[in-house]
Amino acid sequence: MKTTKLIPYSGVDEIGGVKILVSTDETSIFLDFGKPMSRWKKYYDFPYLMPKSISQLIAFNIIPGEDDNLRGLYTVKHDVEDYGIEKEPETCIEAVFISHMHLDHFGHVPLLNRKIKVYAGRVTYLLCQAYKLHSQKISVENDLDHLDTKHENFKVFRYGDKIKVGDLEVTPIPVDHSIPGAYAFLIDTGEHRIVYTGDIRWHGPANFLTTNFVKKASEFEPDLMLCDATRFDKADLNTEEDVRRRMLTVARECRGVLVTSLSPVDIDRVNTVCKIADEAGRTVVMDMSMASKIARLHGLGIRNYPNLSRIFVLKPSKLYRRWQKLFMKHLTGEEITARNGLEEAEEKLGKLFAGAIEIDEIAEKPHEFALATTPYSLKELSELSHRIGYSTSGGVYIASISEPFEEEMEIKFERVKNWIESLGLAYYHIHSSGHAHPFDIAKMISEIKPKTVSPVHSMHSTVFQKFINRYANVKLLKCGVEHCIGK
Ligand SMILES: [Zn+2]
Ligand SMILES: [Zn+2]
Repeated sequence: MKTTKLIPYSGVDEIGGVKILVSTDETSIFLDFGKPMSRWKKYYDFPYLMPKSISQLIAFNIIPGEDDNLRGLYTVKHDVEDYGIEKEPETCIEAVFISHMHLDHFGHVPLLNRKIKVYAGRVTYLLCQAYKLHSQKISVENDLDHLDTKHENFKVFRYGDKIKVGDLEVTPIPVDHSIPGAYAFLIDTGEHRIVYTGDIRWHGPANFLTTNFVKKASEFEPDLMLCDATRFDKADLNTEEDVRRRMLTVARECRGVLVTSLSPVDIDRVNTVCKIADEAGRTVVMDMSMASKIARLHGLGIRNYPNLSRIFVLKPSKLYRRWQKLFMKHLTGEEITARNGLEEAEEKLGKLFAGAIEIDEIAEKPHEFALATTPYSLKELSELSHRIGYSTSGGVYIASISEPFEEEMEIKFERVKNWIESLGLAYYHIHSSGHAHPFDIAKMISEIKPKTVSPVHSMHSTVFQKFINRYANVKLLKCGVEHCIGK
């Protein structure tokens, strides 16, 4: 009888940073290769203090060191001269499967040996392209050159694919989450079957995807289910429709400027903001980074995709980056030529929007606009206070993101709140999570009926264990510790 070995290197007893090794005697793959943000923030401060090397990240226990299970895991790209893929060492890891494009699931892929195949869905691939252009290469963690379909080891999968890697077969199944293109994986070793939910919810506008996943996962009869357990300490029953209704009430009452903050890749939320703005008779003005990321997904037939031709882009007082200049080129007429395909795309994407609006225009008629900004970005608030002054009478700020769950987010959040206060904006928190609440998790597990279930992506594994025990056999995993199926 074959055994299947499982080692989570991070992403257990912490939110995100998922890196789970699944091995048979023949084949080793990783499920996600994310950045464990809480470990990372102990030493670094984006963008001022960034990792110098892979060995530094290993020394700080942010990523695992190479051992017999992880031979040749990392790239030597930054250490050797005249680098080419042939300079990469031999590795025992065949592939990594990325569930979705949140940093805590894909953020450490740049560190991998380029001989390791990277599998990702189409939406993840397109968002990677935006990330590649927008993030500066300020650290070993930002080198995403190989995440390109031109690179032979980068593979894009679709729903319906069954991917053979050695003696493993991996089936990606789309699920509902707060970013489009999120997948769960069914892994068949021939002897054992594992389900990994990735980040999942059942209460979003695409809940039918999760329903379909539950059906497929149940037919799969898994030995082990690795289950998203993020929300066992703070649960609510808010749905996207609840968010829409509450935001609309606020937008209708609001007499001044309406500022919203949301994740730029949460298309459902972007769509909700566009809908309520429309119903309240306000024009949506989006910050450039959000606009550029969303525009990349144009033409993919994504559910809830907003109508870009009705959205304006907020033009900052100065355009610093090349991609920004290219994005706005059709409006500014600046002489600047694209150097590569990524930049050429940026030039076209800017034209999809209704036009650009400067902060002065918003300052003149604040009640006519709904500003969509990125969480913790203070630039828009700073420009707003510079132009409008400190008396934006009747204005509102809607934070439509999760509450900060760690100290550093708390500090940034405090800073945002100070700006909001200085502007005299009333503050509302209106949100619905990207992760399933406990009863939905219990329902999923009851229907899938795995032999064993293990919580991942959670600070509250023992609560999960006690709560879920009546529905299934729960086994807690430990970081860096081997767990065997079939022994
Ligand atoms: Zn996550
Ligand atoms: Zn996520």
